[in-house]
Amino acid sequence: MPFLDPFLEQALGRADARGLRRRLRTAKLRDGGRIVRDGREMIDFSSNDYLGLSRHSLLIERAREWAERYGAGAGASRLVTGTSEAHLAVEAKVAAFKGTEAALIFGSGWQANAAVIPALVAAMPGVKVFTDRLNHASMHHGCAAAGVRQVRYHHSDLNALAAALAKHADAPARLILTESVFSMDGDRSDMVRLSDIAKRHDAVLYVDEAHATGVLGPRGAGLSATVIGGVEVAMGTFSKALGGFGAYVAGSRLLCDYLVNASGGFIYATAPPPAVLGAIDAALDLVPGMDAERAKLTGLADRLRAGLIANGYDVGESSTQIVPAVVGEADDAMALAARLEAAGMLAAAIRPPTVPAGTSRLRLALRATHDEADIDRLIAAIGPKP
Ligand code: PMP
Repeated sequence: MPFLDPFLEQALGRADARGLRRRLRTAKLRDGGRIVRDGREMIDFSSNDYLGLSRHSLLIERAREWAERYGAGAGASRLVTGTSEAHLAVEAKVAAFKGTEAALIFGSGWQANAAVIPALVAAMPGVKVFTDRLNHASMHHGCAAAGVRQVRYHHSDLNALAAALAKHADAPARLILTESVFSMDGDRSDMVRLSDIAKRHDAVLYVDEAHATGVLGPRGAGLSATVIGGVEVAMGTFSKALGGFGAYVAGSRLLCDYLVNASGGFIYATAPPPAVLGAIDAALDLVPGMDAERAKLTGLADRLRAGLIANGYDVGESSTQIVPAVVGEADDAMALAARLEAAGMLAAAIRPPTVPAGTSRLRLALRATHDEADIDRLIAAIGPKP
C-alpha cells in the first residue's frame, strides 16, 4: 500500500547511508563443514552447527518419523491442545541432560529470552536486573518487554557486578542475566564465581547457554552443569550444536510450572511441531556420547587461535569453538570477509551495532566436521594482520 512504502524506503535509505543495509542470501549446509552459498560450495566458518548434527541421519529420520506419527503441526498452544506425549518426553530428556528437576521447551531461543525474562520480572516486583554489556539482543529485548532498566556491567567484570549487587542490597530481589559462552567473542563466564556472587547477594542467576549447550560442560550439558544448584534458570537452544531448532529453560519444577502460567511467549504461542521435537530427541540421544567430537573441536579452535595470534590478530579471550579475529574498522572487516569468500571460505564479518565500535571482526565458528587442513587454509587465507 502506498501509505507504508515511503516510511520503509526512508528507513532502508538510512541503513544504506550507514553502510548497514542487510540482504538475504541463500545457503545450504553440507557435510564436512561445507556450505553452498549462492550455488557455490565453500568451507563454512559461520554456521553454529558446531557438532555437524544438522545433517545427521538420526535427526533427519526421527524428524520424519515423528511428523508421520504426530502430524506436521501441534495444532494449538501447549495449554490448549498442543501438549503431546512427545513434548513431555523431550522435556524430561532435557532435564536429565541438564541435571535439573524439570525443563520447558520454547519455540526458539529468541522467544525464550523474550518471554521468560518478563515473566520472572513479573514474579519479583521491584527486582533489579543486572546484565553483562555483551548479552545477546534477545535478552535486551526481554528486559525491554519487562519494562525494566538494566544495571549493565562491563563485560565479565564480576567485581563490578558484585559492587552493583551490594549497592542494590535493599531492593526486594536481584536478577543476574548472562551468557555462559558469549556469542561474538567465544569467551566463557566464570560460572563458579558467578554462582558464588549470586549466592552471596541473594540474586537469581539466569544463564543463556545457547553456544555452550552440546559443546561444553559434562557430556556437553553446558557450563551451568558444572555448578550444580548454582544456576537457578538455565536457558539454551537446540538450534546450534544440537543441529535443530527451538530452545529450553531448565530448572526447578516450580520454575517450569510458573512459566506455564506466566510466560506470554509460552502461553500464547503454538507448541513446537513434532518434526522439530523428533530432531531434538535424536540430538539428545547423541550429544552426551560425543566427547571425541568435543575434544576435536577444542583442538581445532586451539590451532586456529595460535595461527591467528602468530599472524598478529587479537582473538580476545576466546577459549571455545567461537574465535573472533578482531580487525577494527567495519570496512576492513567486510573487505577481509569478501577476500575469504573469493578464496572459497565463508567467514561472516560482524560490525556495530552487533559488536562495539572499533571491534569489527570475523566471527569464526568451528565445526567438529572441519579438519586441520581447513583451519590451516583459513589461517593462510587471512594472512598477517596489515
Ligand atoms: N541467545 C544467544 C546467546 C544467541 O546467540 C542466540 C542466537 N543467535 C539466541 C539466544 C537466539 O536463539 P535462536 O536462534 O534459537 O532463536
